[in-house]
Amino acid sequence: MNRSPRPDFAVLGGGLCGRLVAWRLAGDGHRVALYERGDATGSQAAAWVAAAMLAPLAEAASAEPLITRLGASSLESWPRVLAELPEPVFFQRNGTLVVWHHADRTEAPLFERRVRANAPAELLDGGFIALAGAQLGAAEPALAGRFNQGWLLPREGQLDNRQVLSALAAGLAERGVDTHWNTPIDDASLPEAGITIDCRGLGAKPVLPTLRGIRGEVARVHAPHLQLTRPVRLLHPRYPLYIAPKQNGLYVIGATEIEGEDMSPVSVRSALELLSAAFSVHPGFGEARILELNSQCRPTLPDHRPALLWDGARTLRVNGLYRHGYMIAPEVADEAVRFASALLDGRVGDADAFAGWRRDACWSELFQQEFAREPA
Ligand SMILES: Cc1cc2nc3c(=O)[nH]c(=O)nc-3n(C[C@H](O)[C@H](O)[C@H](O)COP(=O)(O)OP(=O)(O)OC[C@H]3O[C@@H](n4cnc5c(N)ncnc54)[C@H](O)[C@@H]3O)c2cc1C
Repeated sequence: MNRSPRPDFAVLGGGLCGRLVAWRLAGDGHRVALYERGDATGSQAAAWVAAAMLAPLAEAASAEPLITRLGASSLESWPRVLAELPEPVFFQRNGTLVVWHHADRTEAPLFERRVRANAPAELLDGGFIALAGAQLGAAEPALAGRFNQGWLLPREGQLDNRQVLSALAAGLAERGVDTHWNTPIDDASLPEAGITIDCRGLGAKPVLPTLRGIRGEVARVHAPHLQLTRPVRLLHPRYPLYIAPKQNGLYVIGATEIEGEDMSPVSVRSALELLSAAFSVHPGFGEARILELNSQCRPTLPDHRPALLWDGARTLRVNGLYRHGYMIAPEVADEAVRFASALLDGRVGDADAFAGWRRDACWSELFQQEFAREPA
């Protein structure tokens, strides 16, 4: 492990973004130190609780085109990322099935309209297939006869979030990143480095006052007797509910969307709603075993978009990944790495150079130069 006193990069926060950015930079031959307040498992991160669905089209029902495009590109990038990691990670690209109960049928045309309005034509072409009756049962045999209609979004995917975090931790060790687990970083005493990359998620709130948390609650259940082959989304008037089958009979059922930074345990109401939703999709969930009920807060900027925020000097902040972190992380991290490298070697140092960089960037919409600070 490299113990140089002044690394090229100090990455603050070792959740999803911090691990990915640090790992990429180390892969480019840089000296990198990573500081994470929690342990190497990632249990303090939003990324630990997430369902890790990679569903740019389904998310287009509520997300902007930028996020849909980032998600579609990142879906192509994930296999390359995973192939370089030293541990295996469950990655599936078997689509998303969208269904609804009769009582919520008015949600279906709304969902379709929003997806068609926000998603680029090339994603919709062959990527949004209406299913009726027996077609639905043929696509997802475990749900045969249970729903009259649905949509299959065949190109979408999912990951095992905790395997990603574990494999990235192993990747950091393999690439010689100087990892400081259980090390919270206070802005008053930043570690020495050429460039600081702040990936603390909601932990960056002291320097990003407009950042806010949106609480999400999930259930993890074990139901080896059920055979869902892909994530199932249940249209619901308050928030999108999903049941994501992982490996070995594990299902992640999520997720609530509640304004606020309440990190307390899952409420009875939310547990009832999540588990009832799963039971309503398939009564076999009645015999599932509850492994975990957990909550975390999604780091969210006012426009609900991710951002790369440059302070005009030696600090880059990567934040605002909201409910799309896994879906967009490869592209966001790559853009952050390109920019951070340009900062390190002096290719960007002033407002003009930044404007030029942003103009030519792959994902120029991600870049912002100043933080939206509240008045003192
Ligand atoms: C319930 C739920 C479901 C989700 N489902 C999905 C999904 O299906 N698909 C998807 O794409 N995304 C999903 N997400 C969103 C995804 O988890 C986030 O977008 C992603 O984790 C953001 O990554 P991040 O690295 O910015 O933040 P985080 O993953 O939260 O990582 C931030 C890290 O910074 C550390 N930190 C904070 N403060 C400090 C400090 N002072 N010093 C040192 N370290 C610090 C934290 O411990 C943490 O490890 C979900 C999120 C939730 C909560």
